[in-house]
Amino acid sequence: MKLTVLGKYGPYPAAGGGTSSYLLQGESAAVALDFGSGALGRLARFVAAENLRAVVLSHLHYDHICDLLPFSYCLKAKDKRVELIMPDTDCFQRKIIDDLDGFDIKFIKPNMRIGEFDFSFEKMRHPLESYSMRISSGGRTLFYSGDTAFCPEITEIAAGSDLLLLDCGRAENTPAPHLSLSEAAFIAKTLKAQTIATHLNPALNYVSPSPLVTVAREGETYCV
Ligand SMILES: [Zn+2]
Repeated sequence: MKLTVLGKYGPYPAAGGGTSSYLLQGESAAVALDFGSGALGRLARFVAAENLRAVVLSHLHYDHICDLLPFSYCLKAKDKRVELIMPDTDCFQRKIIDDLDGFDIKFIKPNMRIGEFDFSFEKMRHPLESYSMRISSGGRTLFYSGDTAFCPEITEIAAGSDLLLLDCGRAENTPAPHLSLSEAAFIAKTLKAQTIATHLNPALNYVSPSPLVTVAREGETYCV
């Protein structure tokens, strides 16, 4: 599998940047993981958005969903439909998404087969219902944390993954419902797994604390 970072920031982008969105390409299918600001235009450099097998949302905070709105215009213009897999959360954003054209909505279940990808979802710790994703194809596994505060069980949920993509939106020693870079490094070290630090707070300066941890770069493609 190949993972491309479309947008690496949260909750808002730095100059020229985008918010959480990732393209995952396998042998025969491609899915988008979250769909924040900038996702649609950046995705088009790699695949036609209407040819995605699905968009999978970890949760419905704005910085993970906002480019669904112009994506719906794109689908309407091209008379196409795309599967949208998301938490069954009762919130304002849900009402907006329900009214969008072009999406076939399915709700997250613990285990789902999406194209060639086997997804396992686990509920994480975040103010809005949010899920991590373990995604396997061709004998390789990606773990994406979505947004979450640190929880001890994350090392069990992510164990055995070949690549970790971890939310690092929290400044060290501040309260926020996100991981910090040092917590991501702890998870990487515990699991001896290559890790990409993402959902970066644009107010912070990130320097990798470990050879196992790579600070995400937008437009970069990583092998899983
Ligand atoms: Zn969030």
